[in-house]
Amino acid sequence: MDALLIPAARLQNLVRDIFQSAGCPADEAERIALYLVKANLAGHDSHGVVRVQRYIQMKNDGLIHAGREATVVVDTPVIAVVDGQFGFGQTVAPRAVEIGIAKCKAMGLSAVALRNAGHIGRVADWAEMAAVEGLVSVHFVNAAGSVLVAPFGSFERRFSTAPYCVGVPVHDGEPVVLDFATSLVAEGKVLVASQGGKPIPGDALIGPDGRRSDDAALLYGDYRSTGKRDIKAGNGALRTFGDHKGSGLALMCELLGGALTGNACATPGRPFANGMLSIYIDPKVLDPEGMFPPEVARYLDFVKGAKAAPPATETLLPGEPEARTRVRRLAEGVPLPAETWELLLQTASSVGLEVQR
Ligand code: NAD
Repeated sequence: MDALLIPAARLQNLVRDIFQSAGCPADEAERIALYLVKANLAGHDSHGVVRVQRYIQMKNDGLIHAGREATVVVDTPVIAVVDGQFGFGQTVAPRAVEIGIAKCKAMGLSAVALRNAGHIGRVADWAEMAAVEGLVSVHFVNAAGSVLVAPFGSFERRFSTAPYCVGVPVHDGEPVVLDFATSLVAEGKVLVASQGGKPIPGDALIGPDGRRSDDAALLYGDYRSTGKRDIKAGNGALRTFGDHKGSGLALMCELLGGALTGNACATPGRPFANGMLSIYIDPKVLDPEGMFPPEVARYLDFVKGAKAAPPATETLLPGEPEARTRVRRLAEGVPLPAETWELLLQTASSVGLEVQR
């Protein structure tokens, strides 16, 4: 199907109206729309408006609750445990990050465990929030109930796509934010590819015969090109990136983001919940002599100055591809496969919203 170019503001207003019509408070609907469209603007369509139908479905199924606020269940000067109570991730995750930032600013260091959060989307959003305040942050994330990824050496699903993210503030510049799923691609990228969007790499999935493949049926079984995807229907799995190394990092995201937070590791039969262990460091406390900002600037220049090897045309830093895509998409509009746009309109009418095509 062809891609359409939708202006970001139009997309954001539509998504806001959908969630408000579905019963979310106005400020929550606004936040969900903001973060989903931000993901599209960053080029991560897997975490953008393609999720709307799924979020509404989860809400209708009682797996996620509109207007539900997080509660703080452990509170020390440097540690908080925040229970998202199955509220929307776009509500409970920024609350957990705000708490981490406040504690870190007071103490120089903090750790916040978020559990039972609805889908928290693009983890970079939370590292960017900390970086704006001048803080370094590290995030280990898992998704209980979402068992999609095979450990190295197997084809059987054991891990969630368990993202890992690090944000480093840059004096007078954009922060460096490394943010990726430990699976070779995020599940949403398989979803987008199965809807006619950007194809996934040919070795992103693995079947019971050990064969590496890009066939979305290994995740979704026999799916129709329109309609819902059942992530439990396939008999294969996503692969981790980087063989045993990515598999090891995925395990650590499960143990820290899942077990240590009290969220639970990826386990079949559990409800979906994101867990996130976040560690915040204030460089101004750790580095009173102020050596960190100039050293970061010097080193980033050195790294960026590395000559490109074809097919690359330049050396990029983590966060740069997203920043460039944002500039382009803000100017040109967000490209959406026609099916994704159609599903969005169908979801809008399912919550009683009349939309002009
Ligand atoms: P990806 O494979 O596109 O990797 C993105 C990272 O690599 C970014 O930091 C980006 O800046 C960097 N990068 C990309 N190209 C680069 C280049 N040429 N040079 C230097 N750096 C480069 O991302 P992904 O694994 O598909 O993850 C997509 C998103 O999905 C992430 O935002 C992640 O947080 C999110 N996610 C969320 C969940 C959840 O449960 N909430 C689960 C999985 C993934």
